[in-house]
Amino acid sequence: MDMNGKVALITGAGSGIGEACAMVFAREGARLVLTDVDMPGCERVATAAKAAGAECITVRNDVSVAAECEAAVAMALKAFGRLDVAVNNAGIGGPAALTGDYPLDGWNQVINTNLNGVFYGMRYQIPAMLKSGGGSIVNISSILGQVGFATASAYVSAKHAVVGLSKNAAMEYAAQGIRVNSVGPAFIRTPLLTKHLTEEQLSGIAAMHPIGRLGRPGEVAELVLWLASDKASFVTGAYYAVDGGYLTR
Ligand code: NAD
Repeated sequence: MDMNGKVALITGAGSGIGEACAMVFAREGARLVLTDVDMPGCERVATAAKAAGAECITVRNDVSVAAECEAAVAMALKAFGRLDVAVNNAGIGGPAALTGDYPLDGWNQVINTNLNGVFYGMRYQIPAMLKSGGGSIVNISSILGQVGFATASAYVSAKHAVVGLSKNAAMEYAAQGIRVNSVGPAFIRTPLLTKHLTEEQLSGIAAMHPIGRLGRPGEVAELVLWLASDKASFVTGAYYAVDGGYLTR
């Protein structure tokens, strides 16, 4: 899974799945551009990645702001001269409410982060990758990019759209050597869940997975690594679940 020398930009790298991606990429020899709005979190992960031997920079990048996504790619090019891999991972859960009651500001916040954030990322990553002779983009969707979940209209809509956006970009750039895939984790034990739910609620959610537990961030990161690597050289436009069997139901 050699990522030696490849330059990988990861959004939302200061926690959870993004953090796990940073650490597996560091293990495989990638040079890292770690971005987040949570800079203490991002710096903590950068310190761990450097301790694992990776060259690494951090950039503050709110993915819901196009100009900041452009600037993050520019920083990657300035630091390392190329961009080979991007993991558009930053995301939020948003309010829990039925569609008929869904708060409008919450809707906009989720769409701006979870959907527009992925588009803004690719909007600037793709031109940089074209200059580098190709690349691989992995967009973090969800099982909720395939099925619904009551009280999560905005999240479900954004995650479905990320699957479609990934397919479209894959089709457009396949011949120029850029692969674009999406990954659909089921419920993974990260602060996205643990900040908002009790252990009892988490046990109830775990029981929705045939494997009988929540996923671990590292289990998602290994799939992201494979898709980002040349081992997945014939894989583009695909959606890969990493879900403990959730979607079999
Ligand atoms: P997390 O809360 O642990 O980490 C998310 C990171 O994104 C945080 O560091 C946060 O600061 C950052 N972030 C939030 N808004 C941002 C913004 N506007 N700009 C830049 N960074 C921002 O959550 P996680 O579980 O690691 O989630 C990562 C991705 O995985 C998200 O897209 C999420 O929707 C997706 N996902 C998570 C689960 C799960 O159960 N944990 C399941 C499926 C998909």
